[in-house]
Amino acid sequence: MADPKGFLTHDRELPQRRPVDVRIRDWREVYDDFPAEKLTRQAARCMDCGIPFCHNGCPLGNLIPEWNDLVYRDDWREAIERLHATNNFPEFTGRLCPAPCEMACVLGINADPVAIKRVEVEIIDRAFAEGWVSPQPPVARTGKKVAVVGSGPAGLAAAQQLTRAGHDVVVFERADAIGGLLRYGIPEFKMEKRNIDRRIEQMAAEGTEFRTGVNVGVDVTAAQLRAEFDAIVLAGGATAWRDLPVPGRDAEGVYQAMEYLPPANKGFGDSGISAQGKHVVVIGGGDTGADCIGTAIRQGAASVTQLEIMPKPPADRPGSQPWPTFPMLFKMESAHEELAEMGGDRVYAVSTTEFVKDAEGRLAALRLVDVEGPAAGFKPVPGTEREIPAQLVTLAMGFLGPEKGGLLSELAELSAGEFFDPRGNVARNTSYETGVDGVFAAGDMGRGQSLIVWAIAEGRSAAAAVDEFLTGQTALPVAIPPTARPLV
Ligand SMILES: Cc1cc2nc3c(=O)[nH]c(=O)nc-3n(C[C@H](O)[C@H](O)[C@H](O)COP(=O)(O)OP(=O)(O)OC[C@H]3O[C@@H](n4cnc5c(N)ncnc54)[C@H](O)[C@@H]3O)c2cc1C
Ligand code: SF4
Repeated sequence: MADPKGFLTHDRELPQRRPVDVRIRDWREVYDDFPAEKLTRQAARCMDCGIPFCHNGCPLGNLIPEWNDLVYRDDWREAIERLHATNNFPEFTGRLCPAPCEMACVLGINADPVAIKRVEVEIIDRAFAEGWVSPQPPVARTGKKVAVVGSGPAGLAAAQQLTRAGHDVVVFERADAIGGLLRYGIPEFKMEKRNIDRRIEQMAAEGTEFRTGVNVGVDVTAAQLRAEFDAIVLAGGATAWRDLPVPGRDAEGVYQAMEYLPPANKGFGDSGISAQGKHVVVIGGGDTGADCIGTAIRQGAASVTQLEIMPKPPADRPGSQPWPTFPMLFKMESAHEELAEMGGDRVYAVSTTEFVKDAEGRLAALRLVDVEGPAAGFKPVPGTEREIPAQLVTLAMGFLGPEKGGLLSELAELSAGEFFDPRGNVARNTSYETGVDGVFAAGDMGRGQSLIVWAIAEGRSAAAAVDEFLTGQTALPVAIPPTARPLV
């Protein structure tokens, strides 16, 4: 145990965010550095619980009390070994995960939980800085070939595990760069892309081959892939977006979040659809919406408003979402802080009834109405209809599952059973295998829209299943079965 009295003597502390008026002038990550002595105190708060609920909260089963103790004892090298034992990419989760581990931390029952995520990111950043993250090529090769379709966290985790197990792995990505949503969905101010690049360098040095600009199902067929490879891992994400088909939807200036964010991420705001000087409305109150807000503010929007159809969530755990569940709480992300500072609004329990166009067909305003909560079926509240000015709208209303057609349609025709589950995701058996022999599915493509930590956990687990399929046995770890779900 780190420090038997640590949780009594130290308060939870996180690094400061850089001042809003400074950080919105650049695209760099928002957090200031965190001094090592402060981090040691945070690690010291861990109680090394007999039953560490943080493990259960984390789909990867991260060995959290072990690395808290090692950081406290200044053994950073061993700490990264223990962290990498369960997580291929702690630099992604340490920056981007909503940290279900912290929501499940035992200290959180009657105090602030351990700052697990901060400890995680400091361990991996230090390991990279010290040169401890080196390529781990396999000692022997199996001669088996695996194609991974999609280079998000699920595909990358599966590829790294399978390459290290000795297989020849090729990752196919239709975009022009590797990383999936990490690359072109999540903005630079949440995670600088150099974090992806240095990990790809390590993976390439281990022997994973990356082919970008290849849309599987279009540039190469599933049949060709099956002929060339011994196994296929589908990790194409859940990229079919939810739309808002109300009058005026075709107005110029209404975009899906994933039409707006990728060009901004490519040119750090200088290319694509600009919010500069515009009244921007973001429809959708989740993470994707927050990313649109931060991007629009950095592009110089005149105003930004966020709309959410659900009622405002509570600031503290309600009785209906007790420890150790992952509660739906009111969040103040960095982008929300920026929004508040520029006088922007977050409006809850409101629905858009029309995109109002000007004479040239450009978006001019949004017609809104307040609605009663989900129990009342989002019934409009009479007398609350109003218009707000808008020249740019981003729809950040979630995703409906993987895109059908192309690759998935071709495979569905070959499937022995139902290729899709009732929710429209790719169906898997307990070994992540689809209805097509030798074709596996991991991440959002099989689970539906989820989180990076779940994608990595699925990628690792699917890799174990593929390894066993190819060689009849495996020593690769399984983090979760495909049916595992968050504790809610
Ligand atoms: C804007 C945004 C912000 C988010 N922020 C967070 C966050 O802060 N924290 C968090 O935990 N989660 C966040 N998420 C969710 C998280 O990014 C996803 O759950 C995660 O990336 C899923 O990983 P994946 O590997 O399954 O798929 P993805 O990351 O979606 O990657 C799939 C890849 O497959 C490629 N592909 C698809 N079909 C083909 C094909 N036929 N041929 C070749 N390539 C193909 C796609 O181009 C894509 O690059 C966010 C999501 C969005 C949209
Ligand atoms: S639950 Fe919290 S206090 Fe207990 S071992 Fe995990 S991080 Fe430490």
